[in-house]
Amino acid sequence: MPAPQAERFKRGDPLEHTSKGGLALPLPTSPLAEPGEERALVFDAPVRGSAKPPKHWFDLEPAARATAVAALGLPAYRARQVATHVFGRYEYRPEEWTDLPTDARAQLAVLFPSLLTPLQELTADRGLTVKTAWALTGGAVIESVLMRYPGRTTVCISSQAGCGMACPFCATGQGGLQRSLSTAEIVAQVADAETKLATGVVAGGPGQVNNVVFMGMGEPLANYVAVMAALRQLVRPKPDGFGISARGLTVSTVGLVPGIARLAAEELPITLAVSLHAPDDELRDELIPVNQRWKVGELLDAAWDYARITKRRVSIEYALIRDINDQAVRADLLARELRRRGDWNWAHVNLIPLNPTPGSKWTASRRRDQQTFIERLERAGVPVTLRDTRGREIDGACGQLAASLA
Ligand code: SAH
Repeated sequence: MPAPQAERFKRGDPLEHTSKGGLALPLPTSPLAEPGEERALVFDAPVRGSAKPPKHWFDLEPAARATAVAALGLPAYRARQVATHVFGRYEYRPEEWTDLPTDARAQLAVLFPSLLTPLQELTADRGLTVKTAWALTGGAVIESVLMRYPGRTTVCISSQAGCGMACPFCATGQGGLQRSLSTAEIVAQVADAETKLATGVVAGGPGQVNNVVFMGMGEPLANYVAVMAALRQLVRPKPDGFGISARGLTVSTVGLVPGIARLAAEELPITLAVSLHAPDDELRDELIPVNQRWKVGELLDAAWDYARITKRRVSIEYALIRDINDQAVRADLLARELRRRGDWNWAHVNLIPLNPTPGSKWTASRRRDQQTFIERLERAGVPVTLRDTRGREIDGACGQLAASLA
């Protein structure tokens, strides 16, 4: 016989000290996990042999670029010229750098090996959303999504091919982890978006990337070193980097607590997004397997520390799943968990209507439940927004990136 719900919730109740008794959170009947069989968590997939991407200019810090140029027997100022082409004009092919001698261009080509081979490009929203599937060295496939909005452009990039976090409602999680991306493979996705925007091939006229969100395939904090190096290339001022404001960068995590603490210590004011999806451990253990290692309480403490240290408001991602996590009582619990840590709007809740994924029987919440959820949070003074479903029809929205080519 299943235990009564209130009683089940009591085990490890994160709120015991704030709400005594009476809190009954509906839990779906077991087995909850779906679709298919449970997957093991995979934190690390080393890149071996022929899958290893070649070293690229985008892997190198400015000093290392100068060294690499000198090693080719070229004068140091060539490094500066190359940087101006690359980060100033988004020209990544040496043959485009016509102010450099042909010989020098030929030599420099070794620092610009091809990393991403476009396999497929799909557009939606009258051309304002573009999803690209790329083959990496070794054959793994990733996707990135460019989204234009009035006055800003966001590119959603992948940090790993596949993902080892096994969340049952996410298409990427269903395929497991193939491998982590190198710094240059991460940066190259942004570089491509900049070129597409600069050359006007995307609808909406010429433009630039304003926001980069690590919300594509993979768990960025499981590929910490490469992701951090990529973030530094993106924020470094032109002509040594892309010169994107740190405030325009968002790293989204499933909840790797040590990674959040490490990120907080970097002194880069980037936005942290936490994929929470449930305010209680019993449900989150099912929705987010890694919750079995780091609990809701620890995760929100880490998120709060991040906000306190960086003074950046944390984004709490919450995909609303019909009758699973969308009850008013969970909105109340979420609000309380956030407010009891600080009342200075340190966290902002971003609700995501669940996007359909293959084989999943779960679906988005009813409109009225979604509205009630929003109202409960608002009433408790928690800032809340509802995310759009950009790219849904091309499987380019949150949780849909599976690199399964149409
Ligand atoms: N691994 C990181 C980065 C992925 S971001 C993370 O978990 O945060 C992708 C976001 O989309 C995450 O918030 C994820 O939980 C959410 N998501 C996954 N599947 C979804 C779906 N089917 N519908 C809506 N959002 C989903």
